[in-house]
Amino acid sequence: MISRIDLRGDALPEGGALRDLLPRAEFDVEAALEKVRPICEDVRHRGTAALIDCARRFDGVEIERVRVPDEALGRALAELDPAVRAALEESIRRARLVHREQRRTDTTTKVVPGGTVTERWVPVERVGLYVPGGLAVYPSSVVMNVVPAQEAGVEGVAVTSPPQKEFGGLPHPTILAACALLGVDEVYAAGGAQAIAMFAYGTDECRPVNLVTGPGNIFVASAKRLLKGRIGIDAEAGPTEIAVLADATADPRHVASDLISQAEHDTLAAAVLVTDSAELAEAVEAELKTQVAAAKHVERITEALAGRQSAIVLVDGLDAGLTVVDAYGAEHLEIQTADASAVAARVRNAGAVFVGPYAPVSLGDYCAGSNHVLPTGGCACHSSGLSVQSFLRGIHVVDYSRDALAEVAHHVVTLAEAEDLPAHGAAVLARFPEGEREDRND
Ligand code: NAD
Repeated sequence: MISRIDLRGDALPEGGALRDLLPRAEFDVEAALEKVRPICEDVRHRGTAALIDCARRFDGVEIERVRVPDEALGRALAELDPAVRAALEESIRRARLVHREQRRTDTTTKVVPGGTVTERWVPVERVGLYVPGGLAVYPSSVVMNVVPAQEAGVEGVAVTSPPQKEFGGLPHPTILAACALLGVDEVYAAGGAQAIAMFAYGTDECRPVNLVTGPGNIFVASAKRLLKGRIGIDAEAGPTEIAVLADATADPRHVASDLISQAEHDTLAAAVLVTDSAELAEAVEAELKTQVAAAKHVERITEALAGRQSAIVLVDGLDAGLTVVDAYGAEHLEIQTADASAVAARVRNAGAVFVGPYAPVSLGDYCAGSNHVLPTGGCACHSSGLSVQSFLRGIHVVDYSRDALAEVAHHVVTLAEAEDLPAHGAAVLARFPEGEREDRND
């Protein structure tokens, strides 16, 4: 059901060589580019008509307009199961608590008397948030995208999600209800690459946005890469991943159920256990067999666990385990070891870390308060998950008096000449009479 990689015995290879030994999904964004390019070009030139054609072709549904009418949002909220509403409200409340704290304050640094640099944090004006809706529907992703954008102070928030055949070409009603709960009334029924192109180029129904965030499948990721520059994007978020670093103290039932919980997303989802305990590895394998057989999405889970992206990795001790999980750079990393907090504090590469037996990834997916839009594919070594910061830009405001500029003028001139850009120096010297210049340069 799940393969084994035995790294015990010899010393672990370094960096890239170690990464090559570890399992990872085939998620070739470059290869999908050729497929999404014509889709994006079509949306660029034909706008809504192209989106309607894409809905027919890729989602199997006839739609007449892409913008979701306000009445549909209100109806979805009115008809939302009260238990789901209560759970979403709690998820929103906790996410707000965490994300509100992330808001950076402007800082002013006095560099010299009369010379200051202020870093001013300004929200992006208009953002497009992608909420997946292919294999599963993700109202939780509405929360995880919208809350940080709102807490950052973004004024224009638009959400898109694929049109669903069984709901008359609208996005899933729970997604619409989540938008309504969050006060978002600009919602579109578009999925895949075409939705990203709609946000980038704009149509008669949708004004272009400055930034697109949110997870999606390979077509979504590929369109984001293609249109990056015209729009800003967050870190590419591909098929989901869980890595569990566990020792003999871990409960194999918990480890197995957490691996299955992420495998349930997608046949490409990755589930990786890194352990120094052969006994735990055996017990988890046995648990996987029992629990998968009883799972709802048994075929999807079986394919994800059997795929080349999933494995049990055996190592010599926790230090080696930490080296392995750092090389892997998981989207979600669980630490199920003795003294889990101390072990977690040593992790360098992960999208999010879940500490101890009572912080499963599912908690983070919905209700921990943390964000679940996280870097995948090893990108955690250079990127962060979605946060308030993703929706802000820092602008340096430079304010120098005459005296403060005069004091440093000769250094500016020297550096300008060293770079063979004398006009730069001249622009400074033009502000001072010649006599004063010489005095200053003494
Ligand atoms: P999706 O909404 O990303 O993609 C569905 C769309 O893909 C469809 O609307 C269709 O337009 C397009 N499409 C389908 N087949 C196509 C084809 N042959 N050619 C062109 N376009 C096509 O939904 P999904 O497929 O379920 O994928 C969601 C992904 O997001 C999963 O991999 C899941 O693991 C991931 N996810 C990641 C995170 C994270 O934070 N990293 C969170 C939630 C979901």
